Amino acid sequence: MTDSPIVRDNTSMLVEEALTLAGKALGDRREGQYLVAAFLDIGLADLLAHPERPITDESGFRRWLEERAEGKPLAYLSHRQDFFGRTFYIDERALIPRPETELLVEEAISLAQKMYQGDCTIADIGAGSGCIAITLALELPHARLWATDLSASALEVARKNALDHAVESRITFLEGDLLDPLPGPVDLLVANLPYVSSTWLAGEPSIAFEPRQALDGGEDGADLLRRLLLLLPLYLRSSGSALLEIGEEQAFLAEWAQEHLGGTAAIVPDLAGKPRLMRLRT
Ligand code: GLN
Repeated sequence: MTDSPIVRDNTSMLVEEALTLAGKALGDRREGQYLVAAFLDIGLADLLAHPERPITDESGFRRWLEERAEGKPLAYLSHRQDFFGRTFYIDERALIPRPETELLVEEAISLAQKMYQGDCTIADIGAGSGCIAITLALELPHARLWATDLSASALEVARKNALDHAVESRITFLEGDLLDPLPGPVDLLVANLPYVSSTWLAGEPSIAFEPRQALDGGEDGADLLRRLLLLLPLYLRSSGSALLEIGEEQAFLAEWAQEHLGGTAAIVPDLAGKPRLMRLRT
């Protein structure tokens, strides 16, 4: 007899068995634990505390395991990804929010507060799932936002997230190339554009499930960033700033921008000390 509050049923697979199966199939015990926890929509501690819990939808679980073992990211199975302390809906139409992008959001919030007491216009270029624009709308309740993306289907994900987080009336979503859809200049421009080099991307199976359009930055990863930088003076108000996420290979763009645009450009490193952001002032 068990005194567990969970009702046992003799036919179901149990968490204990699911963990063994998933750990083996994924070749990683921890990944197996994440998968089972996400499938049951419970936390890791809760999962591990109750190995006798039944998995009632066993065939559903096996399907998840199969897809995960083929490399599909967990976020595309659970349709959830946490970003800046909130949960966002996600599917294959948009890039999965990355923790490194939280630095961009932190810097944007502090800039908006310092320069404008939070009362400013912000554009998020290449908004994808919308996690940046939506987080900024929530953290800066007096800001007005535009979010653009070339992909109409990514914008559908962003709109759903804006509705889920009740900020749909504060963000105008616009389909189009880079800055083209913006109605005019803004105070603060943020972007996590594709910056992965095409050659690196070609040999990388882990991102095969994500929209290539959201990652591929051309030969040196800087194609879209360069295009955006050249247009920037037209879309930033005087004393406005831009914050662009980059990889360390694109740090050279700071000098490039200063040469081509004037103003000031600075690189902001992440916690590991690697170049992660470029901050520009007109
Ligand atoms: N940081 C992402 C990665 O390394 C890249 C995101 C991007 O291209 N904007 O997968």
